[in-house]
Amino acid sequence: MDELKAYKAHLHEIGKLDSALALLAWDQRTYLPRKGQETRAEAIGKLTKLSFQMATSPRLGRLLDGLGARDGLSDEDRASLRVVGKDYRRRKAIPARVVERFAIARSKSETAWERAREASDFKAFLPHLEEMVDFSRRFADYYGYKESPYDALIEDYEPGMTARELRTIIRPLREDLVPFIRHLTAEGRRPDTDVLSGHFPVEAQRDLALRALRAIGYDFDAGRLDTSVHPFTIAIGPGDARVTTRFLDALVLSNLFSSLHEGGHALYDQGIPEALRWSGLDQAASFGIHESQSRMWENSVGRSRTFWVFFQPILAEVFPQFRSVSPETLFRAANVVEPSLIRVEADEVTYSLHIMLRFEIEEGLINGTTKARDLPDLWREAMREYLGVVPKTDAEGVLQDVHWSTGYFGYFPSYMLGNLYGAQIYAKAKEEIPGLEEGFARGEFAPLLRFLREKVHQHGRMYEPKDLVRRATGEEPDSSHFVRYVKEKYGGVYGLR
Ligand code: ZN
Repeated sequence: MDELKAYKAHLHEIGKLDSALALLAWDQRTYLPRKGQETRAEAIGKLTKLSFQMATSPRLGRLLDGLGARDGLSDEDRASLRVVGKDYRRRKAIPARVVERFAIARSKSETAWERAREASDFKAFLPHLEEMVDFSRRFADYYGYKESPYDALIEDYEPGMTARELRTIIRPLREDLVPFIRHLTAEGRRPDTDVLSGHFPVEAQRDLALRALRAIGYDFDAGRLDTSVHPFTIAIGPGDARVTTRFLDALVLSNLFSSLHEGGHALYDQGIPEALRWSGLDQAASFGIHESQSRMWENSVGRSRTFWVFFQPILAEVFPQFRSVSPETLFRAANVVEPSLIRVEADEVTYSLHIMLRFEIEEGLINGTTKARDLPDLWREAMREYLGVVPKTDAEGVLQDVHWSTGYFGYFPSYMLGNLYGAQIYAKAKEEIPGLEEGFARGEFAPLLRFLREKVHQHGRMYEPKDLVRRATGEEPDSSHFVRYVKEKYGGVYGLR
């Protein structure tokens, strides 16, 4: 068989295993009965091993070498060799015995973190955290890097990004956003959120989520909506990108925004073109780009003034108590800024500061300038400086996130980059599509979706995130778009102008 055909067939075989794995994982997080968990873990373990073996097989190595030396390949094929080759080398970089030791240490660390968080006992978690940092530093050495070991770790989440660039990107957040939030909360008029209180039955909330997803163009023939404790999106394979939400009885907008958020992720997955199937390019460009799509639909669209002109009648149809509440009141109630302790509950403005703090701490841990035992103090100082609130316990502070306990160093910046990329791409969409936001008032979201399909979705993993942002917007990634968006919108909502 021709080498190129053999290469593609090999990737397709891996893809089938990964698709089955994704379905098992989806089931595990939605409907799997408790007593089935043990067998499921075994099935997942077996398939993961098979997939890993194929993704690191000498045969794939030979195909990559052979094709790498060949002329006359298409741009897509060359991009495929680049990303698959990189994944291959990274997987092979860590010796199998280290991978195994890490897997065991990680599982213990996660359990220790859960207990430590419950008891708010950082000291109990400290030795595990130190071990996770040590492993990650060793991984960085195995992967190799030019400037900072942290750069080798970000690569898994945000290819091509470096700690140095992140520090530059963050500067306007620290210099402009921190004082702006202080000004906003001290002198602005906080929107009234009393109109949102009440009890909202699950079935009606589900109806609302379905309507919102349909409105933004989510294809129910290529996905479905279910419930889970933590909402997520998962691409099972071509033609199957599923979302979940959760229903909180007293919080009607929580489900709506979570559905728009996951819907934004799923629109991206549904927009990956057929031509890229099973090429290694049929994925998002990065975690940050994925997050840019979800946050754009949730915040730039769902929390816009004109969205509420469209959605107020729908909300009032499902929940009649909103009949006499104006779109403007709902728009304002959906845009409250509140410095708070917990990242996952943060609003779109303060969210990035939670990430800034985590990035600065974890970068220090990985390059050795920060000691793990100092984390609780560093955390409190940074919270005071950036958000003006200080956790009383470590459970509400340094122990709140699972990431470090599982060795995910370099992951956090993607959340923030999602906000920043999203604001930049959305600014470009507004520039290129006349009347974009006026259209939202009539339920016209297709022009934005078309724009995103063309500029972002259709490229899959062809380009690294920075390159993709440059192609989509004509500029380097630049956080000033986000800062401008925040100041304009919230300056208005809080009556600061
Ligand atoms: Zn997300």
